[in-house]
Amino acid sequence: MANPYAWVSKSLETLHRANWYRQVRALEGMCGPVVRVNGRPLVNLASNDYLGLAGDARLIEATIAATKSYGTGTTGSRLLSGHRELHSELEQAIATLKKTEDAIVFSSGYLANIGTISALVNSRDVILTDEYNHSSLKNGAGLSGAKMMEYDHCNLLDLADKLKEYRLSYRRCLILSDGVFGMDGDVCPLPEILNLAEQFEAMVMIDDAHSAGVLGETGAGCVEYFGCGNRPVVQMGTLSKAFASLGGYVAGSAELIDLLRNRAASWIYTTGLSPADTAAALGAIALLNQEPWRLINLHKNACYLKAQIDQLVISLPDDQRQHFRCLPSDSAIVCLQVKDAATVLHLGEQLKDNGIFVSAVRPPTVPVSRLRMSVMATHTKAHLDQCVLALRQALPISTGVAP
Ligand code: PMP
Repeated sequence: MANPYAWVSKSLETLHRANWYRQVRALEGMCGPVVRVNGRPLVNLASNDYLGLAGDARLIEATIAATKSYGTGTTGSRLLSGHRELHSELEQAIATLKKTEDAIVFSSGYLANIGTISALVNSRDVILTDEYNHSSLKNGAGLSGAKMMEYDHCNLLDLADKLKEYRLSYRRCLILSDGVFGMDGDVCPLPEILNLAEQFEAMVMIDDAHSAGVLGETGAGCVEYFGCGNRPVVQMGTLSKAFASLGGYVAGSAELIDLLRNRAASWIYTTGLSPADTAAALGAIALLNQEPWRLINLHKNACYLKAQIDQLVISLPDDQRQHFRCLPSDSAIVCLQVKDAATVLHLGEQLKDNGIFVSAVRPPTVPVSRLRMSVMATHTKAHLDQCVLALRQALPISTGVAP
């Protein structure tokens, strides 16, 4: 009899051949600006711990205290037995940060996107989604059953054209965009998206996973960054990046949040966020407010690294420059686009050999391979200089030979 799983090894072979094969690698010890891999210290430019809080002793104490008070798990869904006062405190803290009427906390950002999109639209509706949006927005859109149309990345003309063509044929319309694009670092044109949404009577949902705790004067995210606080937006985000924990959230009007508590299946039918995760996120939001130096350092570090890498690309020989591009970024994410998957993997290994840990991101996650460097508030200038030096050694600057 034929083996019904024979295709699995063939699929894996294809992934290997295309240099698309991926595997986990363990980091050792406490997270922070320097981590250990196989016993060696590496400057960590691969985490989403933008504010440098995931190893903070005060947050660790808060998680221990919450675990001692409430236990290791919430043991039920929020509507049955899994709701704790701590969840309400966190939801209130998020709403205060975001200056919205209310907020709801999910057990992950992925679940927040999936549940919210399906609660807002269904098969009678249309979704317009940026082609570079995160997988959770794309899969959420697919699961909702709505007609899904991708528009070209941050292209307002294409978005307007698609609104003109499709809006009237559907009951509701939802525009989806990452606030900061996680694999690129650029920021979505939110005010213009909101203008189009107003014109075409569409809802807008922004994924602030990489912008909350990063963008805006108080770190409230994309809406604060653009001064759009008085306009209707569904603000989704995650607690797993700048907020150093696990979980996701949606902030918005009291009615919207009330609807999600009644309609978002990925909130209703899953176990409430653990006390430890809830306490860590609550503590991180408090520290974001109490320690403004973190946001200031984060931006200083991101600008410095980006300027240095821009300079490196400029100093490449003419025949090499076309293969490398520092992508535009206003966030804590700095990407060096590289011609192909083999080159990016090789560069990533060379950097690792020189004490730098970065992500080599390849298709299918992104259309063109790149080194993704994410900056933390707690990186020192010496950390960033070490990264630039390692890149200088790995790139074909002096030799004129392709890596
Ligand atoms: N949205 C974006 C833009 C993300 O980058 C991520 C995580 N990589 C998520 C959503 C999912 O968040 P979580 O990790 O909390 O599930």
